[in-house]
Amino acid sequence: MGTVDLTTKLAANFSLGELVSSAKADSLGIDNTPPAAIVEQLRATAAMLQRIRDRLDRAVIVTSGYRCQALNRAVGGVTSSDHVQGQAADILVPGYGTPYDVAKALAPLVSMLGIGQLILEGVGGKRWVHVSTRVPDRPANRVITITDAGTQLGIQPVR
Ligand SMILES: [Zn+2]
Repeated sequence: MGTVDLTTKLAANFSLGELVSSAKADSLGIDNTPPAAIVEQLRATAAMLQRIRDRLDRAVIVTSGYRCQALNRAVGGVTSSDHVQGQAADILVPGYGTPYDVAKALAPLVSMLGIGQLILEGVGGKRWVHVSTRVPDRPANRVITITDAGTQLGIQPVR
């Protein structure tokens, strides 16, 4: 992964490595090393994740953070551009509850916690919470649920 020091702390409980490491990238031989400008975005993303962690008082697991263009093409996804900019992370907080539980808890707190966009995502049998520092152009898109069935406003149960 280039010369970037992955052990660099971006926030108290989040390292650069946690936000850029990708098993998918490794398996495909993709170098997911972020440029310096992206690292600054990741710092803001890590600060948001830290606020989420502190609020829920549980460890936050980042399943996907920064994605270079090649990695993003490999994984696809409708909300992927924020990942390419280093502004988004997909998270699980198993010590708190299901992704639905986590999204429900965060939904009333997006402004307080500086979450630009909160999405409960479900594809196939997988569920995760997507958070971004970028506020979407349309306010209605700030807190949404995206599944194979489409997009719904707010946080909705995913079957
Ligand atoms: Zn995402």
